[in-house]
Amino acid sequence: WKHAPVHFRTLLEASRRHGPKVFLVYEDERVTYEEHYLRAATLARRLAGEYGVAKGDRVAIAMRNYPEWVIAFSAVLAAGAVAVPLNAWWSAKELEFGLSDSGARVLIADGERAAALAGAGCPLIVARGEVPAGARSFAEVLGAVEPDVTPPPVDLSPQDPATILYTSGTTGRPKGALGSHRNLGQSPLTVAYGTTRSAVRAGRDPARKAGRRRVTLLTVPLFHATGCFAVMTTTMFGGDGLVLMRRWDAGRALELIERERVTNLSGVPTNIWQLLSHPGLAEADVSSLTSLGYGGAPAPPRLLERLTELLPSRSPTNGYGMTETTALAIGNGGPDYLARPDSVGLPVPVVDVRVTGQGGEELPVGEVGELRLRGPNVILGYWNRPEETAEAFADGWLRTGDLARVDEEGFVYIVDRAKDMVIRGGENVYCAEVEAALFEHPAVEDAAVIGIPHEELGEEVGAIVRLASPVGDEELRTFLRERIAPFKVPVRFWIRESELPRNPGGKILKTVLRREVLGA
Ligand code: ATP
Ligand code: MG
Repeated sequence: WKHAPVHFRTLLEASRRHGPKVFLVYEDERVTYEEHYLRAATLARRLAGEYGVAKGDRVAIAMRNYPEWVIAFSAVLAAGAVAVPLNAWWSAKELEFGLSDSGARVLIADGERAAALAGAGCPLIVARGEVPAGARSFAEVLGAVEPDVTPPPVDLSPQDPATILYTSGTTGRPKGALGSHRNLGQSPLTVAYGTTRSAVRAGRDPARKAGRRRVTLLTVPLFHATGCFAVMTTTMFGGDGLVLMRRWDAGRALELIERERVTNLSGVPTNIWQLLSHPGLAEADVSSLTSLGYGGAPAPPRLLERLTELLPSRSPTNGYGMTETTALAIGNGGPDYLARPDSVGLPVPVVDVRVTGQGGEELPVGEVGELRLRGPNVILGYWNRPEETAEAFADGWLRTGDLARVDEEGFVYIVDRAKDMVIRGGENVYCAEVEAALFEHPAVEDAAVIGIPHEELGEEVGAIVRLASPVGDEELRTFLRERIAPFKVPVRFWIRESELPRNPGGKILKTVLRREVLGA
């Protein structure tokens, strides 16, 4: 007996029934579901036939958010190979690491990445831009698309590897998260189920608004979990439209919302902040927008406040997820979110949650400990990293490395990353709590809290802040003392003129900041 084949190829084949509907929008280009399917199936045949790509082989994709990214991804999976999306922000050296770490057999890249990787010794297919000597263009490889083409036959089972996505590298070197076809195949179901439950809890009819086509603007890169796992597969499942941006720009996003009648915006909290602070927001026609979803990094409650003030009656959702959980694992939306703006919500229905102490024992309700997750969205392990896999994927539960507590009703609160927590004289200081308090000050635009090494206390609390208008350290401290315990108030502030360094997932790179301000 075989499990029902909940895998990506089923999703791809099913998406063909949306035929003439537009799937991908990029600038003035439109790719329908039929075109996407035929191109992906053709490319899958070329990869198998001309490049000898077989089941389990890795094929890397290194591109900005172009339609070819999605086509390449679908093709690689349809061929039974493992898609390895590489971070397009990476330097040539980092990209080379991704190629060798994954043992990629073919690389599909845009012109910029192709130029950097022409010498990497991997057969290269180039979409958009210059084609280096020895490489072939995407169009040339694709050739004529036959009207009745199907992907090459391949025997896939749900547990077979489908993707290697690199984690964001916020806490260390990025790890290749090895996801299965089942992980990917369940993703749109998990998102839909979670969304439906939110709607039911809100007392609204969960059915889509009649006659209204769902169009999502993707503001984050496709090579990270949110873009690839949650947004792309969910869009494909629903036969919806996906508007792509080569790079994030709030002003451009406003134009696109208006032009494409975007109904949903998906991104990281930074995108939403920038959209809300953009001077063009007042004039732009954003009446089509019905929901805004964000996650992947802490969303301070003030973001929700600003959002409800400036874009009222849109449904905001905060989702918690990891590369290791195929994106969404816990979500908060509707009145639940308004009532608990500091919570990431309830686990999606297929996910089990546990909060554990130092020895892995389950802690009582309300206590802070490490969050562990279990479910069909949890990946197989880390590619080529047996030790890290053994450590993080113990006894069927994933150790998230995040500190959290769960309340009586099951709502999850992310307290901090275990690696970020400052321990001051034996007292735990959660950076995220101090940052949230700082965010309440109207002059604070951005903030990152770090530990400063201290001989006696072990660590002290420091903060790097970006200000909208000048404020003295003492004023900030007085403001914070009204909100948090004195030992949590930063002893030192660094004022930063430029934007805080972030990775494409919207996370502040504290390792970079620590090096900058502490030289360590
Ligand atoms: P690395 O594992 O390489 O250090 P990373 O953990 O940032 O990088 P991702 O898998 O992209 O890589 O991010 C997952 C992490 O993002 C979670 O463990 C959590 O710390 C944070 N996160 C995700 N969603 C939320 C959210 N809604 N609120 C707060 N934090 C979040
Ligand atoms: Mg991580």
